[in-house]
Amino acid sequence: MNLAQQDIKYLPGVGEKKGEILKQELEIRSFEDLLYYFPYKYIDRSRMHRVSEINADMMYVQLKGRILSFETQGEGMSKRLTARFTDGTGVIELVWFKGLKFITGKYLLNTEYLVFGKPNIFNNKINLPHPDVDVYDEAVEKQAGALQAFYNTTEKMKNHFLNSRMIQKLVYNLFTCIKEPFTETLTPQIINRAKVISLNEALYHIHFPKSQDLLKKAEYRLKLEELFFIQLNILRYSKLNSRKLGGFVFSKIGDYFNNFYHKNLPFELTNAQKRVLKEIRENVRTGHQMNRLVQGDVGSGKTLVAFMSMLMAIDNGYQACMMAPTEILATQHYETVHKLSEGLGINVVLLTGSSKKAHREKVHQQLLTGDIHIIIGTHALLEDIVQFDNLGMSVIDEQHRFGVAQRARLWAKNKRPPHVLVMTATPIPRTLAMTLYGDLDVSVIDELPPGRKPIQTLHQYDNRRGTLYTSMRKQLEQGRQVYIVYPLIQESEKADWKNLEEGFEHIREVFPEYNVCMVHGKLKAKEKDAAMQLFVSGEAHIMVATTVIEVGVNVPNASVMVIESAERFGLSQLHQLRGRVGRGADQSYCVLVTSHKLSEVTRKRMEIMVGTNDGFEIAEADLKLRGPGDLEGTQQSGDPFNLKIANLVHDGQVLQLARDIASEIINEDPELKSPSNQALKNQLDKLFRKKVDWSLIS
Ligand code: ADP
Ligand code: MG
Repeated sequence: MNLAQQDIKYLPGVGEKKGEILKQELEIRSFEDLLYYFPYKYIDRSRMHRVSEINADMMYVQLKGRILSFETQGEGMSKRLTARFTDGTGVIELVWFKGLKFITGKYLLNTEYLVFGKPNIFNNKINLPHPDVDVYDEAVEKQAGALQAFYNTTEKMKNHFLNSRMIQKLVYNLFTCIKEPFTETLTPQIINRAKVISLNEALYHIHFPKSQDLLKKAEYRLKLEELFFIQLNILRYSKLNSRKLGGFVFSKIGDYFNNFYHKNLPFELTNAQKRVLKEIRENVRTGHQMNRLVQGDVGSGKTLVAFMSMLMAIDNGYQACMMAPTEILATQHYETVHKLSEGLGINVVLLTGSSKKAHREKVHQQLLTGDIHIIIGTHALLEDIVQFDNLGMSVIDEQHRFGVAQRARLWAKNKRPPHVLVMTATPIPRTLAMTLYGDLDVSVIDELPPGRKPIQTLHQYDNRRGTLYTSMRKQLEQGRQVYIVYPLIQESEKADWKNLEEGFEHIREVFPEYNVCMVHGKLKAKEKDAAMQLFVSGEAHIMVATTVIEVGVNVPNASVMVIESAERFGLSQLHQLRGRVGRGADQSYCVLVTSHKLSEVTRKRMEIMVGTNDGFEIAEADLKLRGPGDLEGTQQSGDPFNLKIANLVHDGQVLQLARDIASEIINEDPELKSPSNQALKNQLDKLFRKKVDWSLIS
């Protein structure tokens, strides 16, 4: 029987009407859809309670007995229906406040029911409000075993008798009418390698687990399968693509690189930087186009890695570009790269929205003739008029600020797509990165340059500003600089606005002997740069700002970051902001200022920030507190795979295994042509009928 082709309405117990509702409400169209509609929780129901033992502290009770009578009480809004229920040890009231008409018609006297609910006290009496009431069905009960599965249902479904119990009954019916086993989707090798149970067993135990242990095994198997096919699909396309597209071969390390390394390198590379450079080197010499995500915590030295990768391109006769999301950042990169390449004979230029026309035209010209080796800029680089002689390497800094489409435009700047290096300080948790960017190779710079003192983070309530100002003054007296950041979620929000301006005035009053500058998104690019420049040069001692300073700015002399209304920022954002200090050799501080009225979650978030400087740990914690959909920079993507059972937050290990296995298979048999992989190919084709090219989504 082909389960995917069996219309759900033909399942015993369903029919036209219910079939229609299942389709509308849960998109369950076929037998198979129902089979893959997994329970959302399980409750140990091996225990049958007695009415006589019920107290209001119990989380839930399960009773078996009969309804003695119905009674309607009250009028209008307070109208309610009460059923007196007994199991022989006592009587308890089941109460409904909604759907009364429906319930009176539905339940009968003198029928054996299973009742499940949470005890509640009302008028000094214990009752069960809105309990699950089901006809006691010995067969299903036996099948269900000790753990009762619960299925999500909608209001509309409940109104048509399609509650969780009923779904379970339907699944039971389904198992009864399927005589042959389900077609296994994984190969015997994978089943062996991953040590998972068969699909047959897994599907059965996920609906009717006889024990916790079997449930765990079933979940594990189904999670692995789900993640495996996603990974296999991603890898299949990216493999095909890179073979199809091909990449420029940077066969040698030449003079530019070597001269820089021996003459200009300002410090010893960290081991992590060396490792990542090696990974990049291996990548660009193969003839496959590189698509690599470099994750490195703020201050880990990504710029240097990017620069040295660009040198590899230049050594092989190609040009390189580097794109940053803001003018300030692009300018800073330009200055850094300019300095690093002193005396190497490399022509580096900057191109941003505010570049003068004459400069612009000259740059466009020189890019075409190949006179420019490295161009650094903002979105201005994406314009069609920006064309290269031979672009071989594109670096994109702070990738989460750029949209997918924008990044794709960089691909089109040469006949073959250039190698792409995407750098981010927003630590996307590994699990998420692998799922979202499965096609991207990931390099991690997991080490800070030596000599950095970890930033000390403090959490302070906003009614204790005195202490805060005293510590700020101490730092200022030592010649250090201070950032004060205000949230401005919408730059137009009036209240936020007032905060920032008042904060600015206030700080000027408190610190009259120091220069205070202000930077925010409403300023024109020029004004913003001018204010930033005041701070960078050290003329301004305190900078009051919104999150415009979040990305990449490097002022090593700044040692204090004060974040006002810290509760209004996401954890990853707080971490980014904190990363603006601690860039020199001095001890730096980050002060999170919040109101003292905090929710439990917010308090936890502050504790996490105070407790760790590790961006990856913070991102994982953030993901746990907020769920993947809210993760900064990934809002557009959320959970693009519509996962049924695997969880991006908790199932990192399963994902890793799935990825490894998929990768082994694709390496051996890129197009899944071998007969032993036929089943996998069939399943892939079935799952991903829409041929989405995931490898282009980066
Ligand atoms: P990010 O990874 O946040 O972009 P940057 O590339 O801006 O970090 O580097 C932060 C600072 O660390 C810069 O001042 C840079 O010169 C310095 N730096 C980078 N690599 C090293 C190293 N290996 N040893 C010492 N300092 C380094
Ligand atoms: Mg950077």
